[in-house]
Amino acid sequence: MKNKTKECIKECITEITAGKPSVENLTYLLSLPTREDFKPVFDESVRLCKKHFGNRVFVRGIIEFSNYCRKGCLYCGINRANKKTPRYRLTPEEMLDSAAFMKKNGALTVVLQSGEDPGYDKTLIEIVRRIKKELNMAITLSVGEREPSVYREFLKAGADRYLMRIETTDPALFKKLHPDDDLQYRKKCLYNLGKLGFEVGTGIMVGLPEQRLESIANDLLFFKELNPAMVGIGPFLAHEDTVLKDFKNSDIFPTLKVLALIRLILPKSNLPATTAMGTITPDGRQQALKIGANVIMPNFTPSKYRESYKLYDNKICISEEYGKCAACTAGIAMAAGKRIVRSKGYSKNK
Ligand code: SF4
Repeated sequence: MKNKTKECIKECITEITAGKPSVENLTYLLSLPTREDFKPVFDESVRLCKKHFGNRVFVRGIIEFSNYCRKGCLYCGINRANKKTPRYRLTPEEMLDSAAFMKKNGALTVVLQSGEDPGYDKTLIEIVRRIKKELNMAITLSVGEREPSVYREFLKAGADRYLMRIETTDPALFKKLHPDDDLQYRKKCLYNLGKLGFEVGTGIMVGLPEQRLESIANDLLFFKELNPAMVGIGPFLAHEDTVLKDFKNSDIFPTLKVLALIRLILPKSNLPATTAMGTITPDGRQQALKIGANVIMPNFTPSKYRESYKLYDNKICISEEYGKCAACTAGIAMAAGKRIVRSKGYSKNK
């Protein structure tokens, strides 16, 4: 690497960690072609992660409780247009049992995730209430856009966190991918959630068709402004029953670059090593934990439903025996030189 390039990289890192990320410095770093070039950014991300989290990894257990969805996001395998996927909803008892099982296995935070299925909200509110009362777990909801009055009911029932990815903040790309959605409304929902008192999580997909590096740089600036408690990044992975089926899957390296840059911008935010990273390459989650992620999200959806919650092809952990995830996640953390902690993992980034 030439000295000039090295100097430029160092300068960009200094600007970003001093709270001055810009489209220019972020795009420049995102454009670096090799891991060797990008290493100074990874090193800084590792340093910051260690400073704020040591070698600890928080666990959030996911229950995918409904694959009904009213929306038609172009990349998503469970969007409403997919008639091949059998639709399901877990019963309250199945959800309670899964949450109790994950608690027994050391996960004190449950993520209740579904398609946009507001028809199930009343039941969901009751389930949140029961999980809080009977199991005293931290509860994250990942169920999509709602009006503030509904968010308030979720909060009142005992939900602590709300995860809603924005996927891209590029207005034209967002519109193309989300025929039912409005970018400004999605942003408003995220701000509303924060104002109401949720720990807010968001995120993007890396490697979307037609996504430019400048768009990703702008996504990162949006994260800085929103200041979320958690940011989840996934590589784009095509699903055979969507209109994007012929587009090329993304790669792990661009995804890791984005993760590391988020660590520089939001040093105290929780950053998960996502399932999609583990799908794109077998040790994707280990790689993410090594370069700055501090959360892992094992799947506790009962086995018989998992095949029907495929947002993209070849999703991992579909045929795994129920209950094996705890040992598996411990192994992933260990392979990255880290350890799982039994903690609700509340955000340091309030
Ligand atoms: S991404 Fe979410 S809202 Fe969009 S179709 Fe898939 S499940 Fe529904």
